[in-house]
This record gives sequence, structure tokens and C-alpha cells, in this order.
Amino acid sequence: MTIEAAAIISADEKEVLCWHLPEGRSEVGVPDTTSHLLDLLHSSQCMAGTAHSHPGLGVPAPSWEDITTYAAIDKYFRRRFKYWIASMDRAVVVTWCGPRKYDYDVAILDEGKEPGWVTELRRKSQGPDPWPYSESAHGNE
Ligand SMILES: [Zn+2]
Repeated sequence: MTIEAAAIISADEKEVLCWHLPEGRSEVGVPDTTSHLLDLLHSSQCMAGTAHSHPGLGVPAPSWEDITTYAAIDKYFRRRFKYWIASMDRAVVVTWCGPRKYDYDVAILDEGKEPGWVTELRRKSQGPDPWPYSESAHGNE
């Protein structure tokens, strides 16, 4: 998972239970998922899902790695979670729709209907460069 900033979201979807802000984050993200997975283990009973940011503007699309990670988390916990992805101006929520393992639906959140923590996620995603945009970050442009 390419991570700019990530968070675990509370069951009521209103709060962030914990942030995942890997050391040395850059515009291409840092695939440091170990501590994030430990947080998931601790939070799985009281979380609605996870969120992470993608660089740039426009409607974000999950990368293949995002989808396979979601499938692995859902399988591990035997639950279907919600997975938010936010770019710097739009956000989507990704959920399993089936029937196959990697069949995930991407629903675009209406502007103004985004959870409050999306703003904070965006803020934490911004490094010293205000718009850390990279074409290669996800390869799905
Ligand atoms: Zn991603």
C-alpha cells in the first residue's frame, strides 16, 4: 500500500482511532505496513475500517496493492471493513461487493459529505512540499 498518511477509523466513522504516519514519508509513499498492521490487530473490534491518502487532485482510485491489502485484511478478520481513500480534494470509500475475492466497489463521496477527519488526513499528508504529486505513486493514472 502506498501510504502518504493512513488512519484507523472508529466504528461510528466519526473519529480516528490512530494515525499511521511512517517515518521518511515521501511523495511515493513508504510501504511500511508492519506497525500499521499491529494497530489493526488492536483496533479490529472497534473500527469501521481504514483510510489513507493519495497524492494529487481528483477522484482517487485504489491501486491493485490497495485492493489485495483490503482483501487480506477482510479475510484475516473475517469481516468486511470500509476503506477510505482521499486525494487532496476528493474522497472515495471502497467496500467489497463480491462475489469474487477482489471485487471491490468504489463509491465517490459527495463534496461536503466527507467525514471530518478527511481534512486532518489531508493535512497530515502534506510534507514540506505543499503538493507532493507523483505520477508514479500508483501507476493508475
Ligand atoms: Zn493507495
